[in-house]
Amino acid sequence: MDAEIIAVGTELLMGELVDSNSAFLASELPKLGMSLKIAVKIGDDINDLVKGIESALTRSDVVITTGGLGPTSDDLTRESIARFFEEKMEIDPKLLNDLEVSFAARGIIMPKTNIKQASLIPSSIPLPNPNGTAPGWFVSKDSKIIIAMPGPPMELIPMWKDHVVDKLTAFSDGISIVTKNIKTFGRSEGELDEVLSHLFGQENPYLGIYSKQDGIHLRAIAKAATYSEAASLISQIEHQIIKTVGASFIWGQDDDTAAEVATNLLHSKNLRLCITESYTGGAVCGLLSESETFDDILVQGLIKTPTTKPILEYQEPNQPCSAFCQADVHLNISPLLLEDPKHRFGTVNFKISSNHETTCISGKYRAGNSRMRQRASNHALIELIRFVKADYK
Ligand code: ATP
Ligand code: MG
Repeated sequence: MDAEIIAVGTELLMGELVDSNSAFLASELPKLGMSLKIAVKIGDDINDLVKGIESALTRSDVVITTGGLGPTSDDLTRESIARFFEEKMEIDPKLLNDLEVSFAARGIIMPKTNIKQASLIPSSIPLPNPNGTAPGWFVSKDSKIIIAMPGPPMELIPMWKDHVVDKLTAFSDGISIVTKNIKTFGRSEGELDEVLSHLFGQENPYLGIYSKQDGIHLRAIAKAATYSEAASLISQIEHQIIKTVGASFIWGQDDDTAAEVATNLLHSKNLRLCITESYTGGAVCGLLSESETFDDILVQGLIKTPTTKPILEYQEPNQPCSAFCQADVHLNISPLLLEDPKHRFGTVNFKISSNHETTCISGKYRAGNSRMRQRASNHALIELIRFVKADYK
């Protein structure tokens, strides 16, 4: 089935807001066997929205909208869908009651403007939104589907996962799709492209290669009549990738983040960590703090200035932190050791030590660039994963 996305909001057209919802949905659709044909942004204008829906539905079977479900007069997605299908919006008593209960639970009197969020058209089914006030709509009419979801990603992502995926699967062409994202670090995109050339270019399973902040991702998508056939195609290609690329270059899969893998690994081995950051300026601790087990594994995190230093002046610390530190593993990230001051380019050292082993790895980075700092932070965490796997078998 073909799909299109309409991201709704004038903010998107003014460059005030980056459309991450479309990126999220674009990465989800192949898993359901859907091809995304076109993704557009349309401002908060009912005529433009109706025209946008109309042209999308002449080309594609499924249209997904994000945003414009709020209570204000410029939130017009529902009205546009109702006008396109020539159906009347009516307040649904159950949705209205749910909305009033959710406002009462927060001790707020519901403003009258919110009432419109309880409306439906005859062809729509409400999609629950436990993280916000606006329910979504799943509209199915004349063999076409429109899915309207709220703009805030914290509302859209759970709504998609918990209430849309199953419904859309029921409409898919009876094809099972299985995907696998293999996350590598340490081999360049060109190198991987070369060693895996026999796997690229084949249609099923399809293999894509993507350069990301945390390394190079290899994403395989397999289609088959049954789930188990598709899963078997994926497991075959996964096996070939691991054999060709080398297991030590693979640090995670699917939705894994380097921070999560590192904290879970340390936690499972009952190890505690101390971090000293110069170049990354606290970004490693920031990433780790997103993980659930962060509190159990981190003994201390220190930010050391300066973040850049000419190479001759820098000396590796003998002691990663204080003599009283109770951590089992120490991660020390050096300042950027400037080698090319004009282009503010140089080396960052990642020193990782336990009671019985020390390793030092370096990477090339640039000063004053937050993307580079994020990349270096992921690099440090991936080296930490490798170190713990090798040192605490
Ligand atoms: P609300 O009830 O919060 O108004 P809504 O469904 O009406 O929700 P919008 O008013 O369009 O959604 O957007 C609300 C907020 O959601 C935006 O300010 C922005 O933070 C986020 N948002 C909207 N659209 C997108 C998008 N395409 N990508 C990422 N974030 C978005
Ligand atoms: Mg809004």
